Amino acid sequence: MDKNSVLLILVLPCYNEESALGQSIETLLAYFNELIADGEISEDSRLLLVDDGSADRTWEIIEEFHERNGRILGLKLSRNEGHQTAIYAGMADAIDRGAEVVITIDADLQQDMHAIPRFLSEYRRGCDIVYGVRSSRDTDSFFKRTTGSGYYRLMSLLGCELIPNSADYRLMSKRAVEALLKYEERDLFIRGIIPTMGYPTGKVVFDVKEREAGESKYTIWKMLHLAMDGITSFSIRPIRIVTILGFLILFMSGIMIIHVLWDYFHGNTVSGWSSILASLWFLGGVGIFSIGVVGEYVGRAYLEAKKRPRFFIEKKL
Ligand code: UDP
Ligand code: MG
Repeated sequence: MDKNSVLLILVLPCYNEESALGQSIETLLAYFNELIADGEISEDSRLLLVDDGSADRTWEIIEEFHERNGRILGLKLSRNEGHQTAIYAGMADAIDRGAEVVITIDADLQQDMHAIPRFLSEYRRGCDIVYGVRSSRDTDSFFKRTTGSGYYRLMSLLGCELIPNSADYRLMSKRAVEALLKYEERDLFIRGIIPTMGYPTGKVVFDVKEREAGESKYTIWKMLHLAMDGITSFSIRPIRIVTILGFLILFMSGIMIIHVLWDYFHGNTVSGWSSILASLWFLGGVGIFSIGVVGEYVGRAYLEAKKRPRFFIEKKL
């Protein structure tokens, strides 16, 4: 592949970023010029700023930059839909505008932009998806670090393999984004879906800095929301747990009934004890097991309703 030909659109989700955005754009523009001069990306490469329904001057700043510099593109969501949706909208729009390659990066530039050439070289090596993996989580609060790693463990128990310590600093080729757009579900958990798409992938390790201006826009509620989305959109395993639990209790009830009968025939029981205990265990088991069985069907219906694509073609001869 000709090194010059890569048309990159860098997607930045921005939510109330007025204090950080101007500086970030200046820094990126300067760096873009270097990348173009080095032949890393094509002359037509662009920065796409996605305003995620900000309440401050974010969109005005984007407009000002767009007027002064044709390299700056803007996209404004009508309300705050959250980081994931902003990224999704940005990637879709970038492909629409002719991008061959899309990289998403946070607008506060906490993620080291100097990793971009390494992302691109993985792309040239043939990777459709390149994950940015953080070299350390030192800049995160203790809370974010521990809940984060606990979450990865929980998700993997539930059967969703996330790439540990990969934020949404990521490269996607055109066809990988197009594949992602084929998922019709509303509660798309991008980080979970992408590893299941199966295209050739690579990793780039990058450093994270402290946020220079403004504060984190990821409130605890937004984090919890994302975490819940991840679990419910990916896994019907919680239902399976109910089914198994019901089955175990039913099994236990068998043992209990034998035990109760034994005591009954040996005469060391109060009247009524045997029937109450036997039915308590049995009915409990039947109840929970039945809920699990119903849940299995609901779970299937849930997965079907998502209409996920069955396959993507990687090569054709
Ligand atoms: N962001 C967004 N919508 C939101 C929250 C955040 O587009 O509802 C953007 C934000 O502007 C930033 C990126 O997501 O570009 C990451 O957010 P932030 O830096 O606040 O999170 P942190 O680095 O603290 O995890
Ligand atoms: Mg940040």
